[in-house]
Parts: sequence; C-alpha cells; structure tokens
Amino acid sequence: MNNVDITEIEKFNKIASEWWDLNGKFKALHTLNHTRLEFIKSHAKLKSNSVIDVGCGGGLLSELLAKEQATITAIDMAEDSLQVAKTHSNEAKLSINYTKATAEEFSLDHEQSFDIVTCMEMLEHVPEPASVIKACATMLKPGGLAFFSTLNRSISSFLVSIVGAEYLLNLLPKGTHDFNKYIKPSELVSLCKSNNLNLISIKGVSYNPIANTSRIVNNLDVNYIAVFQHNI
Ligand code: SAH
Repeated sequence: MNNVDITEIEKFNKIASEWWDLNGKFKALHTLNHTRLEFIKSHAKLKSNSVIDVGCGGGLLSELLAKEQATITAIDMAEDSLQVAKTHSNEAKLSINYTKATAEEFSLDHEQSFDIVTCMEMLEHVPEPASVIKACATMLKPGGLAFFSTLNRSISSFLVSIVGAEYLLNLLPKGTHDFNKYIKPSELVSLCKSNNLNLISIKGVSYNPIANTSRIVNNLDVNYIAVFQHNI
C-alpha cells in the first residue's frame, strides 16, 4: 500500500518556501523544535549516533540534530520541502542525507540501520499511522529509540490547534490539520507496543502563541512527544 495522502504532500509543497521563515507558517514549529530537542537530548545520546528523521519537511529538526553531531538521514515525500531542506543545510555547512521516500519504502533496505528514529508532527498527516510506526520499528537497531510527536484527539486539541491556530490566530493555513487524524496517546502507545516499541516517557509540549514560547508539560491534551525503546 502507498501510505501517502497526496493532498497533504501538496499542502506542504505549496508553503515550502516558508520553512525557514521564523515569522512564517512554521513559526510555532521553530519554537517547538527547541523543546523537542531538549526532550530528545534528555533520553538519547546524539553524538556519533545514526538518526533517521521521518517526514523531515524543511529539515528543522534534522539540522538541530546534525548540530549535535549525530549522523542524519532525513526522508519526506514533498519534493519542494526537500529542496528547501537541502539548500538550507548546504548553506549551513551541515551534512544531511535528504532522500525522497516514505518510511515504508525506505525501511525495505534499511532494516535495523539506525540508533534513533524521529518522526515529528507527521503521523497525523498520513492515511495509516500504524504502517509508519511499523516501518520506524523495522529501521531501528535492537535497543534503539523512537521519538514520535503528534496531536491528541481531544476537545482542547481541536480548540487550540484548529480553532485557535488556524482560524483565530492565523498561525497556520486553514485546513492544515484534520481532527479525525489526530491520535490519542493511548492509541500511539498501543500501536508502538504491537511493534515491540515500549514506552519510556510521554510528555506534553505546550505552546504559548503570545509569547512565542514552548515547554515540556505533563498535560498531554494537545501536542505531545513520546520516546519508545525497540526491544526484540
Ligand atoms: N517533521 C517536520 C515536519 C512536520 S510537517 C517537523 O516537525 O519540523 C509533516 C511532514 O510530513 C511534511 O513535511 C510532509 O510532507 C510529510 N509527510 C506527510 N506524509 C508523508 C509520507 N507519507 N511520507 C513521508 N513524509 C510525509
């Protein structure tokens, strides 16, 4: 099965030129990015470890990870985003292997190849998140760590990420998110568990649009991030 929603990919290609604009459509993601890195670093050693960043977009997280001296491979299906990511990392003199692929395709010849998988704000944009999670598990070495972040399917999440971010504050283009594709933490944990990914920690990531700040919180109602260990 081709687990790609082409209208989603087109949505991202359309705004690809804004990936690195700190005041553009990805403004909130830039701020969340530092909080995500903080969470990742509190669980994983990055230096000299191999990471695959699944659904890397313009490479916001891939670059932060490369600066921590991890070896980065990054995949996405949006060609325009990948082009932006490549140009930006070249200018920043960072070595990142960007490739156009789905997690499922890439996993076919990259079994047990990475110490760490990161897959941020991507599961809520694919038809079958379970299939992406399976591919991520396949690509991890035994004992490797998988980091996922996504949006909870809760009333607060609907109010904050769709009504607030897309309609009231115009932080994101209208239609960026589909509430039905949001994933409850319990669903993520159980999908991971069926792929031998055992939960280590799960935390909320809160975003304050007025101050443009974000932090790790215990409340998982809206955006959350989790780390799992691959046990075979
Ligand atoms: N992980 C990045 C980008 C998140 S936006 C970050 O957090 O900064 C979601 C990304 O997932 C977009 O770049 C989109 O093109 C990508 N995407 C959506 N469906 C995909 C698929 N099936 N395979 C690979 N990438 C996909």
